[in-house]
Amino acid sequence: MWRRAAFLKPALDALLVELPAQRRIAADPIELPHRYRAQDDVEIAALLASSIAYGRADLFKPRLARFLEELGPSPAAAARALSPRKWKSQLPAFSYRMTDTRDLACLLYGAGRALERHGSLGALYEKCFAVAAGDSRLAQARFVAAIVDVDLTPFVGQRTPSRRLKHLLASPERGSACKRLNLFLRWMVRGPDGVDFGFWKVPKSSLVIPLDTHIHRLSGFLGLTRRKDLSYKTALEITARLAQLDPEDPVKYDFALCHLGISGQCPSRRDVVKCAGCPIRGVCRMWV
Ligand code: SF4
Repeated sequence: MWRRAAFLKPALDALLVELPAQRRIAADPIELPHRYRAQDDVEIAALLASSIAYGRADLFKPRLARFLEELGPSPAAAARALSPRKWKSQLPAFSYRMTDTRDLACLLYGAGRALERHGSLGALYEKCFAVAAGDSRLAQARFVAAIVDVDLTPFVGQRTPSRRLKHLLASPERGSACKRLNLFLRWMVRGPDGVDFGFWKVPKSSLVIPLDTHIHRLSGFLGLTRRKDLSYKTALEITARLAQLDPEDPVKYDFALCHLGISGQCPSRRDVVKCAGCPIRGVCRMWV
């Protein structure tokens, strides 16, 4: 038993109570899949929204919202119908930093083939999880490989995924923290709780924290890790510590902690003014 767990749990539970989650959703990429009802539409919108969730949400979210609106009422139907010969006329224009329409076309094409083959992305992931005997890292690697295992030549002039597609849908095989893949899994597996959807039938205990700079900084402040790198290994270490607080649902604090960072309320160092109203000040290593 990690002794600090008993010290952290009440503070983090209080943070969950204090967080106005419904209001935060409006500024979060998860608001985009919440615009749909059918599971396959939510899955495709969530895959796009999580994959593009690098950089600032206020920059990428309106662009993806416009892309989804122009795609039509059912992103899953659009993914199924995507033709390698006609994709340029089928898809709206998209551009955000290192991602453009071509990259989203590759992702949608692979996801559309997975929907045809397995019925839903959830059914695919559940199979990957079973074959991997519950090993999350292996299940995630199999899931990513299955999505991109399509001939991408008509899109990018090569059969295999481009570097840009590997950036959008990273595999844990190479050690990266795979923040956006783990975010997508959190959305699909946890809940339903008004934030996450809870569609997929794999244990919440198998989730890995979506590790980004905000979670990494706050994890250091809370004593969840001393590791300096944003690697899959660090994500596993933080998740294992959080599992000491709640073994069934170790990533339940992710949304609240991440928004403490995103909102700018948590500075990168001790700040008398900003820290004064922080709900986890009593367990933050900047202060205790
Ligand atoms: S006390 Fe300050 S530094 Fe610590 S988590 Fe809260 S806002 Fe961040």
